[in-house]
Amino acid sequence: MGWCFRQGKRLTYLTLPEWEECGIQVGFSTRWGGIGRTPYESLNLGLHVGDDQDRVLRNRELWLQEWDAEWNDFVIGEQVHDVKVQRVEPADAGRGGRDIKTVLPGVDGLVTTSSLGLMAFFADCVPVFFYHPTLKAVSIAHAGWRGTVGKIAHRVLLEFQNMRGNISDCWVALGPSIGACCYEVDERVINLFQEAFKETPFIKPSRPGHAQLDLWEANRQLLLEAGAVPEHIWSASICTSCHTDSFFSHRREGPKTGRMAGWIRRKD
Ligand SMILES: [Zn+2]
Repeated sequence: MGWCFRQGKRLTYLTLPEWEECGIQVGFSTRWGGIGRTPYESLNLGLHVGDDQDRVLRNRELWLQEWDAEWNDFVIGEQVHDVKVQRVEPADAGRGGRDIKTVLPGVDGLVTTSSLGLMAFFADCVPVFFYHPTLKAVSIAHAGWRGTVGKIAHRVLLEFQNMRGNISDCWVALGPSIGACCYEVDERVINLFQEAFKETPFIKPSRPGHAQLDLWEANRQLLLEAGAVPEHIWSASICTSCHTDSFFSHRREGPKTGRMAGWIRRKD
């Protein structure tokens, strides 16, 4: 079945029914249903993109209502396009929710075995969701090209392994993000991927000095190389840049645009 749209209480968002059946709340917002104005129309959930702060907080309230969550039920990392993965503990509850100054600094990947929700923001970068059934752990990672070439998804799997979980048991889902159709990169980026990966079938040359980069396939490849199994990898395969009718896209709309939220929480 995989990712599908759900009409929630007030918002429409993407979810994974197979995960929900296992007691895992998982969702990825669209750009609609909020109160933001152009160019943040309308459900911008990012506090760091120049939008009116009160409007963003009211949008976050709408998003939290979908999950029956309060301000102290989740945690947000800073997201600096790096590869630091951090274990989140109950003492971190509420960090980054109302105030950007309290985010977990320097963190692009969050892992927890607590019942705290994990939230991260996206507008083209790949949202990577994880659920480890035996550890009862969940994770979310932010993987743009830097996070992908630095293999942040592998780091999350290693964290599960440190917690004595088998990597092959882990479920992984890639949410909507920029597709190879719309993602041209230059030689500098191509070279970094060629250094980091043995093979790079996910890079297709376009014009001289440039190539189309498939971040979905690159993440899939690194997950499989790390020991994840293909039956446990879901990909939305929805390009945010092709679908600005539903999603914000940094590449298509420029820096002044909104952010969608990814959400994951163990519900028990
Ligand atoms: Zn596209």
